[in-house]
Amino acid sequence: KQVACLCSILCRLFMQDYLQHYYHLQNDPLGRMKRSGLSFTSKVKDMQIFFGLNVSGRLDSDTLEVMRSPRCGVPDVEEYSHAQTTRWNKNVITYRYLLYTRDLPRSTVDSLIESAFSVWARASSLTFVRSNTRNADIMVEFATHGDLFPFDGPGRTLAHAFGPGSGIGGDTHFDDAERWTAGETGFNLFVVAAHEFGHALGLKHSRNRESLMFPNYKPFRSANLLSSEDVASIKALYSKHFGCIPESYQRSSK
Ligand SMILES: [Zn+2]
Ligand SMILES: [Zn+2]
Repeated sequence: KQVACLCSILCRLFMQDYLQHYYHLQNDPLGRMKRSGLSFTSKVKDMQIFFGLNVSGRLDSDTLEVMRSPRCGVPDVEEYSHAQTTRWNKNVITYRYLLYTRDLPRSTVDSLIESAFSVWARASSLTFVRSNTRNADIMVEFATHGDLFPFDGPGRTLAHAFGPGSGIGGDTHFDDAERWTAGETGFNLFVVAAHEFGHALGLKHSRNRESLMFPNYKPFRSANLLSSEDVASIKALYSKHFGCIPESYQRSSK
């Protein structure tokens, strides 16, 4: 009986940690859950709704299984205080490597990253150019660091990226505690990079399992990773009539 009890405490701590990372669950100042558990339950429900699970607000095996899946480190819900510009106001976007992984030869990393950018270039008017200048838009880095979204060693969080903007905006970080590969063992760098570059271009997580922007890792499937939803999202974001400048303003300024 005690073992079962300990297990449920550990499960709860694990879920708490997950919900803090991806659903902005707030801790009280002493780091304990609110006694009512209302906030916790509502965050569990938010997560269950996102993943299309049975919305019980309770710890069940399906919910735990989804929470244990390797995934992207970007939250599934937005915190309004971190709202940034939603897109790049240009069509040529530069990227630069800061740190490589030792898991793969550099030439392999280069070609996988280039292919991941091509996925989005084919679906939009965007062009991606490698640069060695300090002011490149997207800094690509393999690291085991802690920043706004700290990495957690092997498993769970694989990578994260920041939305368009200056400074850290667009920067894409891969957890170098993972084993990065070009195939189906470990984690496929092409697949993860293509997902992260979606964020670097301004896309959010999708609830649609077919979408490349679904937060959980999916093994390598086909050459064209994008679902019709992904194609529509990137086109909407970078077509002339959408984006951060309101249409009414564009009209009046002509
Ligand atoms: Zn993501
Ligand atoms: Zn980072």
